[in-house]
Formats: sequence, structure tokens, C-alpha cells
Amino acid sequence: MTPPILYIVVPCYNEQDVLPQTAPMFLQKLKDLSARGKISEESRVLFVNDGSRDDTWRIICDLARQDRHFMGIAQSRNRGHQNAVLAGLMEAMDQCDITISIDCDGQDDINAMDDMVDAYLDGCEIVYGVRSSRETDSFFKRATAQGFYRLLNMMGAEVVYNHADYRLMSARALREFAKFKEVNLYLRGMVPLVGFKSTCVYYERHERLAGESHYPLKKMIALAFDGITSLSVKPIRIITVCGLLMSVVSFVGILWAVIAALCGHTVAGWASTACLICFIGGIQSMFLGVIGEYIGKIYMEVKARPRYIISDRTGGEDSHA
Ligand code: UDP
Ligand code: MG
Repeated sequence: MTPPILYIVVPCYNEQDVLPQTAPMFLQKLKDLSARGKISEESRVLFVNDGSRDDTWRIICDLARQDRHFMGIAQSRNRGHQNAVLAGLMEAMDQCDITISIDCDGQDDINAMDDMVDAYLDGCEIVYGVRSSRETDSFFKRATAQGFYRLLNMMGAEVVYNHADYRLMSARALREFAKFKEVNLYLRGMVPLVGFKSTCVYYERHERLAGESHYPLKKMIALAFDGITSLSVKPIRIITVCGLLMSVVSFVGILWAVIAALCGHTVAGWASTACLICFIGGIQSMFLGVIGEYIGKIYMEVKARPRYIISDRTGGEDSHA
């Protein structure tokens, strides 16, 4: 059997500080693996520039000129981590046998790639990289991340615990994944839906080698919200159950009011009426908000906008730094 062609897909957004450090590490890993006959010589590191405003794209172009194992594509503007990974995977899909997506900041242990490739050679189509501990994360990040996974599972979105977007996918799995046409992307929740034989590989997560995280709390909450509403209709079910309970309570209330009126005990109760109106009004608008979120998503899906647009490629005539 000829060794498979591996593409390492690396999303990069404003990473000029860290890219010069991690790019040689990816290349070294590629060369080690191909020297051991695990992967083909034709394997590549594919950088996806996600509309960086700094020198990232120039660095990628330089790297591609220096070594043919480096390639790059650039999104026409910043579209976010998930879209950048997808763009890279779709670009790689037809040129390789396996892809491994990994962040470019050196946080994910690249040595886990050895086990991932071994698992592929053993017949797995998808291999999830799972953090064995979160000791290097701050207490805050750890607590919020754990709460995040719990919430997702409670809401019916099945995700692999402590797995981010460091994973191996075969071209075959990717071709199936490409049929998922949604624009609201939550890759780590969508990939398990593809199925195929899969496994997990455990690794220690390190500190960022340089630069700063692009995932502040606001973006994490947005991702969690996207994860839940893209993958599950459980919030709608919860609304239905709450609505049902409220109807029962109101029915009892109505009975009580009618009986009280018939017995002639009614008092002019402006305050209680106003409170009830406020309460119901508040709850209803909250519920409508959640429903609105789904309608918003339907709206976006119906538009079927392209999920990524590639403006440049290294090596092509249109490549310019
Ligand atoms: N990233 C991206 N587009 C964005 C934000 C981030 O391509 O809009 C990339 C970033 O360059 C990195 C990866 O996504 O390779 C993960 O981002 P980061 O390390 O900032 O997140 P954290 O590890 O702190 O969750
Ligand atoms: Mg990071």
C-alpha cells in the first residue's frame, strides 16, 4: 500500500508572532512521518489565512516559496475560525487522503499526529484529538469550558468531551461531510454526525507560544450558542414543556378566579394583575427570542451563501503578499 498523502490544515488569524515558530515544527513533523514511511512525500502543510490584518499572509507566501511542502490559501476577509478550518479542509479534500486540522499557536501537541496517523492506518476515518488535562488553562477558561461541554450535552448536542478542532479526517469522511450544507458551522458537533469508524487520541495542551487568544468570553459564548442552536432543537422542546406547564397553572388560576368571583370575594387587584401581565410578557418575549434564533438560522440557511471565498493561492499567478 502506498503511504497516504497528509494535508495539515492550519487556520491563521493575525498570527505573525507565532507562525515563524510553529511552521518549522509542522514541516519537521511532516518530514519525520514521511521518513518513517507513514505518509507520502507529497504531503503538505496548508495554511488558511483568515483575513489577517497583520503580516501573516506575507509570512505564508514566504514559507511557500522556501519549501514546496508549504501551501497557503487566503479567505477574502475574516470569517472566523470555523469557516477557516472548513475552507482548508474543502481545499485539501481532493488533493490528499487524510487531513489533520490544528491551530497554529502551538497549543496542541503535534506529536499526537503520530498516533492519529497510526489510527488511520488501522482503519479509522476520523480521529479526535482530546486534551487529557487543562492544567495550562486559567481557572476561568477551564471552568467556562467545562460548563460549556456540559450545557451542550444537556441540550442534546453530542460533542466529544474536551475535543476542540484538532482532528484527523480522511478524504472519504470529508467528501461525506461536504454534503452538510449548513452555514452555521460548529465543526466539532457536526463531524460526529458523519459517522464512520473513529477513535480518540489524548494529548497535553500547552500554553500559546506567542500572540494572544482570539477567543475571548464573548466569542466563546457565541460559539456555545451556535453549537446548541445549530445542532439541537431541544430549546424548542423546553419552550413547549414550559408553555404546557404555564397553561396548566393559568387554568388553575382561572378556576380560582371564577370561583372567587362567584362567591363574591373579588377585590380590585390592580397590582397583582399588573405583575401577572409583566411576568407573562417577560417570559413570552424570552421564549420568542429563542424561537427567533431558529428563524434567523433558517433565514441564513435559505440564502445558501457560500461558506468561504478563496481570494488567493500560493504558487498561482494571482499569489501576492
Ligand atoms: N483563528 C482564525 N480566525 C479567527 C480566530 C482565530 O482562523 O477569526 C485561528 C487562530 O489563528 C488559531 C485558531 O483559530 O490558529 C484558534 O484560535 P485561538 O488560539 O486564538 O483560540 P484559543 O486557542 O485561545 O481558543
Ligand atoms: Mg489557541
